[in-house]
Amino acid sequence: MSLQIDEAVLKGVVADVLRKLQAQASGSPVAESKKEDCGCSCDGACSRGELGVFQNATDAAAAAKEAQKKLRKLGIEGRDKVVKIVKATCAEKAVEWGELEFAETKIGRLEHKIAKLQGIPNLPGVEWLAPRGMSGDHGITMEENTPFGVIGAITPVTHSIPTLSCNIVSMVAAGNTVVFNAHPGGAKCAVAAVREYNKRFKAELGIENIATIIEKPTLDSFNELCASPDVNLLCVTGGPGVVNAAMKSGKRAICAGPGNPPVVVDDSADLDKAATDIIFGAAFDNNLLCIGEKQIFVVDKVYDQFIGALKKAGAFQLNAEQLDRLTKVAFTFKGDGGGCSHPVVNRDLVGADATKLAQIAGTSAPAGTLMLFAETNEDHLFVIEEQMMPMVPVIRARDIDHAIEMAVKSEHGYKHSGMIHTLNVVNMGKMARALDTTLFVKNGACVAGLGTGGEGYSSFSIATTTGEGITTPDTFTRRRRCVLVDSLQMY
Ligand code: NAD
Repeated sequence: MSLQIDEAVLKGVVADVLRKLQAQASGSPVAESKKEDCGCSCDGACSRGELGVFQNATDAAAAAKEAQKKLRKLGIEGRDKVVKIVKATCAEKAVEWGELEFAETKIGRLEHKIAKLQGIPNLPGVEWLAPRGMSGDHGITMEENTPFGVIGAITPVTHSIPTLSCNIVSMVAAGNTVVFNAHPGGAKCAVAAVREYNKRFKAELGIENIATIIEKPTLDSFNELCASPDVNLLCVTGGPGVVNAAMKSGKRAICAGPGNPPVVVDDSADLDKAATDIIFGAAFDNNLLCIGEKQIFVVDKVYDQFIGALKKAGAFQLNAEQLDRLTKVAFTFKGDGGGCSHPVVNRDLVGADATKLAQIAGTSAPAGTLMLFAETNEDHLFVIEEQMMPMVPVIRARDIDHAIEMAVKSEHGYKHSGMIHTLNVVNMGKMARALDTTLFVKNGACVAGLGTGGEGYSSFSIATTTGEGITTPDTFTRRRRCVLVDSLQMY
């Protein structure tokens, strides 16, 4: 008689036993194995999750590994079906899921949460994967894109379902399956999306767990994911803390890290268009976008005119006293224990409406105001910190070189994004070289860099820190060279 044991089940049982032993040793109560969470017919005896939702990283990764084996058998056609399901579901559920995410995270703007989901159908899919062929006297060589296996993905609170959906499209198009450790502040909506996707994957392809998620993500579950032998690659979308943690994990990590994008306006620019574009980009989702315009450097010659253009386009100006009041609430200082302290952005104000920020500043902006601005110097906290609020500082520069110099300093070498408004091609080139960012937009809003108002495709994971750029299915493949020597030549 042969005994067939499902690898995922076995790993789940082992993980469960280990957890219980650890809990007994530490004297803490054992989290009961999830009888009520388990969707299969085991009556709680196994550690399987239901529709991709798991209680720990080990089980989630093991299940994704099993799913990847099954996905491989369905070939590129199977991956394409997954991509189409995700795109169609985002289009269908954009409003419902936008509302769900907005209700949970309470940051940004509902209409933009919806718009982000409506953009998912435009992402590249399996068609993006182009093998490279070579043929010559010594035979035929093909360089193929092959999957990594299981990817551990960390998603931000700023775009929870959009990043998760975008990651599934790119990663599964490339033949991988994925385990998510979402931001705790946006985990409930992410879990709901994973459940819905798995329901549809199961119905159409007969495979569950193509995307899995840890229901209650913690730093421990992140560490467990990093340590799991079933996870072949990490993809991190977030701030400096998680990027550093992933890079130290010992696993290869694709890191879509923080930004603090500057925008420069010179004396040749169309000032009205520059003002309108900047408000559009910086106010999008209340400046939660990592590519969003965060500080504006304007050359002296047109500075006053530009301030006028911002007001004309609907931005509301804070005076020095009001800015001071807001700054005191927007940032706190955290000690490092060694007598130094560094500023920390107040998360309660991240992604808040401009009118709420104005109230905190002690004034009142007209209803519907999308963006506040204030005149500051280059060292102001609103300039140097990635503050993710629709309050954008404006800094006077002596000339273009001074503007670019301050812009570079404010970007902190993240190599993320930058914008310039100019009709002078020399200035465009100067800033592009000095800033050296992954995304550089000329004469448009930041979102033009992701295909809204500019050419090109979008992604919610822009691998700035590790240099892969705007992620596509290609990003999540390994290159394999297949060589056939001499025989089968056609000439
Ligand atoms: P965050 O860094 O607070 O959280 C991101 C993710 O990392 C979350 O899942 C969180 O739980 C986890 N995390 C945070 N610190 C961790 C640590 N020390 N160890 C393990 N996990 C940790 O960021 P956020 O507020 O959710 O998102 C905003 C940040 O993400 C900004 O810095 C923004 O620029 C960046 N971002 C970058 C991109 C990009 O494509 N480059 C896209 C979106 C957001």
